[in-house]
Amino acid sequence: MTSFRMTEMTWLEYRDAIARGATLLVPVGATEQHGPHLPLSVDVILPTAVCEGVAEGGGYLVAPPLAYGYKSMPRSGGGQHFPGTTSLDAASLIAQVKDISREFVRHGVRNIAFIVGHTENLWHVSEGCDLAYRENAHLADGLRILNVGYWQFLPAETATAIFGTTQIDWDLEHAGIMETSMMLHLRPDLVHMERLVEHAPSRVPGYELWPHDIEAVPSDGVLNTATAATADKGKQFLDAYVSSLTQALKQAFDRT
Ligand code: ZN
Ligand code: MN
Repeated sequence: MTSFRMTEMTWLEYRDAIARGATLLVPVGATEQHGPHLPLSVDVILPTAVCEGVAEGGGYLVAPPLAYGYKSMPRSGGGQHFPGTTSLDAASLIAQVKDISREFVRHGVRNIAFIVGHTENLWHVSEGCDLAYRENAHLADGLRILNVGYWQFLPAETATAIFGTTQIDWDLEHAGIMETSMMLHLRPDLVHMERLVEHAPSRVPGYELWPHDIEAVPSDGVLNTATAATADKGKQFLDAYVSSLTQALKQAFDRT
């Protein structure tokens, strides 16, 4: 069977899959510190796994992920002061989204979904999608571009089962229970639970202030302690995201 990963296909296989109307999924991540226990690539690995889970259902291709994201904010990613966090200016991220969309459109792709794994990317990916759509809105056979942060599609029953509530402070989940659990499920070889230290949640205020108050950010980069993370919860998160996003994408790209 031909792979759904664009990186593993020949150009002819790719061309034929596009001609059959495949929807292209593009993971958009970041290279960003995720505490002493997780690798810098968490925000790439997780949306890529979600995309691959959706693609296993058929009708989708997964493009290579964008591995650098917009700047880490103290409130949602710890901030830019950690070694390893390697970020783009907004204009660079917007340009990447717009440029690759133009290329996909040239290949004949008409359904593109950016699946974002890093909070700070969302509005900039939106802008890239908007500019790409504006440039291609004249296409007679129609173009649809979608942007979503995968974590926003956690079904209420999964949220309640794991967190005991549907009111989740996603900013504090940076390197927290959700990301750590999913990494324990997907890449346990890259997780070091023994390095986690229990501490109070981050107390960065809701506004953004320059210069950033890095004293308010936990020095280990973990915004909410992840000691309750397990591989089993990670599988629950992944399965839930794959099924809820599969439904959402079907709805968004349905042309009947
Ligand atoms: Zn993350
Ligand atoms: Mn992030």
